[in-house]
Amino acid sequence: MTCPLCHAAANPLLIATLAHTHVVLGDNQGCPGWCVCVLREHVEHMDELPIEMQQAIFGEVGAVARAIRVWTKRHGLECGLPPATTPPRINYECLGNQVAHIHWHVIPRHANDPDPRNPVWGWPREQLAGTLTQEQKREIASQIRELLAGG
Ligand SMILES: [Zn+2]
Repeated sequence: MTCPLCHAAANPLLIATLAHTHVVLGDNQGCPGWCVCVLREHVEHMDELPIEMQQAIFGEVGAVARAIRVWTKRHGLECGLPPATTPPRINYECLGNQVAHIHWHVIPRHANDPDPRNPVWGWPREQLAGTLTQEQKREIASQIRELLAGG
């Protein structure tokens, strides 16, 4: 049985490869800008890694969150988001219940979020997936890539 996240580098929506993680635009875009930081090697539990590496991984997760928040301000309207009067709240989630390979969901909860007080995982499948086209997803990936690189 192969692990789908061991092939994250080949994801067409790859945003960047950082020191410890591949950053991809999530399959689910019900929250536009949703990214996933996938550990470059197959390890199943954060606590099995040296603490310095855990810290470095979370540094990458934080940098992605920052890029998403800036992206929302600059490009959110183009994706049908309301004007960004406040940057979105970010949900940081490292679950591993379905795919054990360490990965962090970095999920922006925008101003138009239908259920802002709860995690997204109870949403219906279509709502999680969102309505962005493949072309829009490629564009978002490119914009976040630029911001992550300091643009
Ligand atoms: Zn894996």
